[in-house]
Amino acid sequence: MNEQMLQYGRARSVIRELFEYGNQRAAVVGREKVYDFSLGNPSVAPPPQVNDTIRRLLDETDPCLLHGYTSAPGDPVARGQIAASLRRRFGVDCTADQLYLTAGAAAALSCCLLGLCEPGDEVVVFAPYFPEYQVFIHTAGAVMKLVPPETENFQIDFDALEGLLSPKTRAVIVNSPNNPSGAVYTRATLERLAALLEDRQNRWGHPIYLISDEPYREIAFAGVEVPYLPKLYDNTLVCYSWSKSLSLPGERIGYVYVPGSVEDSEAVYAAVAGAGRALGYVCAPSLLQRVAGACCDMTADLSVYEENAKLLVTELTKMGYRCPVPGGTFYLFPQSLEPDDEAFSNAARELDLLLVPGRGFGCPGHVRIAFCVPTERIERSLPVFAKLAGRYKR
Ligand code: PLP
Repeated sequence: MNEQMLQYGRARSVIRELFEYGNQRAAVVGREKVYDFSLGNPSVAPPPQVNDTIRRLLDETDPCLLHGYTSAPGDPVARGQIAASLRRRFGVDCTADQLYLTAGAAAALSCCLLGLCEPGDEVVVFAPYFPEYQVFIHTAGAVMKLVPPETENFQIDFDALEGLLSPKTRAVIVNSPNNPSGAVYTRATLERLAALLEDRQNRWGHPIYLISDEPYREIAFAGVEVPYLPKLYDNTLVCYSWSKSLSLPGERIGYVYVPGSVEDSEAVYAAVAGAGRALGYVCAPSLLQRVAGACCDMTADLSVYEENAKLLVTELTKMGYRCPVPGGTFYLFPQSLEPDDEAFSNAARELDLLLVPGRGFGCPGHVRIAFCVPTERIERSLPVFAKLAGRYKR
C-alpha cells in the first residue's frame, strides 16, 4: 500500500466525526435535541428547473447518448451554454474550449494543481482554508505554504504573504466567499494581491497562477461585491461547482475555466485536461453536464442563508460571542470562548451543540458554525448557545 494514501483513507475528519456523533446522539435523545452545525450540506432544495430538466432530458434524449461518455472535457453544447453564461454575467470572452467540466470543485482543484505543479513547487494558501487543499497539493507533489490568518477582518495579511512568496511559488489559491470564515475578499484586497503577484512574476520571470476556488460565489449577501478574478489578474484559473449554488453537492458537477488571458493558455488547458486523464476523471457525470448547461443562469433560493446569518450574528453577539460578520457562504466563524477551540467544541458537544474547531482550518481559537440548516433549528439552538456562554461567565 501507499503509506500516504493509507493515512488519508484512515484519517478521521473532525467534521465527519462530529456528524456521526450527532446521528448517534439523535438516536438516543431525539433529532430535535441535537443542534448539528457540523456539515456544509445545503439545506434548500435545488430550483424546480433542475428536476424538470432531468425529466425532459430523460424523456427526450436517446438514452445511449444521454448516459454515454461525452468528450473528455465535457459535452460541447453544455460547455457552450456555460461559456455564454460567463460572457453575459462577467463580461469575459469565455469560449466552450476554455472550459473543462469536472466532478465538482474538488476535482477541478485537483486537475489544476496536478496540471500546473512540478514536484517541489510551492502553492500558497490563506488560513483559514478548506482542509482538502493540503491533500490535493500534496498529491500534486507540491508543498503547501500557509499564510497565517488575519483575524480582524479575514482579509489577507500581506506582510506574511510577501514573506512566503518565493521563486518556487507556482500557484496561489484564493477562496472567496470563504469556507470557513464567511469573509469575502474586497476589491481592494484582490487588486493588491494581483499587483503583488504581477510584480513577483516579472521579478522571477515565470507565471504565478491564481486559482480561484469559488463554489460559494453566488452565496453573497446584500450589497457585498464578489469581484471576478479573471478581470483583475490575467493568470487566473477558476474552479467552480454547482454544489452550493444549485444545491447539488452529491451530483458532482463543476468546471475549470482557463481564460484566454492566461499565459500559454492552450498549453495550460491541455495540462489541466492531462491531469484529469491522469487522475481518471475524464468525463464528468454526463446527465449533470446537461443539467448544468441548462440551469447555469439560476440558483436555488439562497435567501435563507442570509436570514440565518443575521439571526445568528445578532443573537450570539448579544450573548458575548465575537462573530465576524460573514459577507456570504453559510458559515459563521466566531471566536471560541476559551483559547483552546477543541476544548470549547467539546464543551459545546456536552450540550449536544456540534461546532467544528477552527484548528483544522488553520485558524485555532475559532469554531465553525455551518448554518445551512432550517432557521427553526437555529432558533431552538439559541438557549443552548446561551447556556454554553453562561458556563464561561461563571
Ligand atoms: N472548495 C471549498 C472551499 C469547499 O468548501 C468545498 C466543499 O465544501 C469544495 C471546494 C469542494 O466542492 P465540491 O463539492 O464541488 O467538490
